[in-house]
Amino acid sequence: MSPIDYIIQFLLGESAGACRPLVGYTSDAAQWGRYRVVMVPSGFFRDGVYGTVASLPALPLPAWEGVPFLFGEPRAEQVGGTLVVYADLVASAYFLLSRYEEMVRRGVRDVHGRFPGRESVPARGGFIHRPVVDEYGILLRGWLRQAGVEVDEPLAGIRRVYLTHDVDSLAHYRRLRGVAGALLRHRPEEVWQAVRTYVGRLESDPWYTFPWLLEQDGRIDAVRREVLFFVKPGGGDSREDQPHSHVRGGDFRRLFRLLRESGAMVGLHASYEAGRRPELVAREKALLEVAWGGSIACNRHHYLDTREPEHMQALLDAGIGHDFTLGYADVAGFRLGTCRAVRWINPATRQVTGLVLHPLTVMDGTLDGEQYMGLDEETAFGYVAELLVQTARCGGDVCLLWHNTSVARPYHRQLYPKIIEYLADRLGLGGCE
Ligand SMILES: [Zn+2]
Repeated sequence: MSPIDYIIQFLLGESAGACRPLVGYTSDAAQWGRYRVVMVPSGFFRDGVYGTVASLPALPLPAWEGVPFLFGEPRAEQVGGTLVVYADLVASAYFLLSRYEEMVRRGVRDVHGRFPGRESVPARGGFIHRPVVDEYGILLRGWLRQAGVEVDEPLAGIRRVYLTHDVDSLAHYRRLRGVAGALLRHRPEEVWQAVRTYVGRLESDPWYTFPWLLEQDGRIDAVRREVLFFVKPGGGDSREDQPHSHVRGGDFRRLFRLLRESGAMVGLHASYEAGRRPELVAREKALLEVAWGGSIACNRHHYLDTREPEHMQALLDAGIGHDFTLGYADVAGFRLGTCRAVRWINPATRQVTGLVLHPLTVMDGTLDGEQYMGLDEETAFGYVAELLVQTARCGGDVCLLWHNTSVARPYHRQLYPKIIEYLADRLGLGGCE
């Protein structure tokens, strides 16, 4: 399927079957009469433009009924029985869904090789908190109605909730290094807990918060939720991959048993090193499959460190069908411009692939990290609630990422249940209001 065809279908959503033949994307006026709505291409896909800096949109962006778009003009005309629109929502959606700007602006990366969210067009344009691609769908369906086509609006409300947890460190005091740290700090209470945990029960470790996380996640309606733990099995020489997990050891076996009993799933947490060398993904997946004792279909990169857009190909090559990496570490919001699962479009080859991307709504550390948003708890809750309202408005999915280690701190120990409660209370309501 061509990316243009896929994007028009994606915008139409559930109405695509009946409405796709009624929507054209062509500047050839002789063709316009075949459609009820035509979007006129802005030239973004033209040879000599595509892939160059000349194709990047200029700020401030035009808007249609308050919805910012990246290419074309905010005007339309009636030509015979056809509504001809000059706002190029196809190129605008393509730009956002494919992470096109990350390919064109390869020189712009943070210390971890990631494209910074603050540099993105959605952040600079002030709409990172809005799933504008889904708003383009609302506009397109509205234009069809204006052209006399009966088209239903999909039901509002949150569809699925992915409650996800990255296991960077299973426990704090189950290795000598952790205990040594506690001894050096000379706090009697901590020393006692460290020693007791090291020689005794895994469950008394402050980072072994899994039973508590599962209890919180269990408050979301089981029909609507998926609980996913991303586990990093790989070595990797990078400092960021320390400490290495012994996924075949007794502690992990205990965790895996707990997750199985509770119906949670396990996905691959590809290492930091695999962010630099994507070919490592296949090996890490194989290691985890042995430890977990089953096949692994989902991935999220450690540090959200998926570097170049075309690196996603390594996931497909490794047999992974679903990725949950795509949010920005430095600013929470809609990195792909959508809150719905979308197939990965490779901007380098312009192909629609079989890999499904599940947009990450928010990661814990983004909210309070001093180098990131640095929000106090109350402001953070308000910001997340706004993302959830936007998701509900567009009938999308929510994907939360809270680490087992972060909820050992009071900030997230209080914030996470508050967000879960907010979600649980509003899941049945269409508008999440
Ligand atoms: Zn991680």
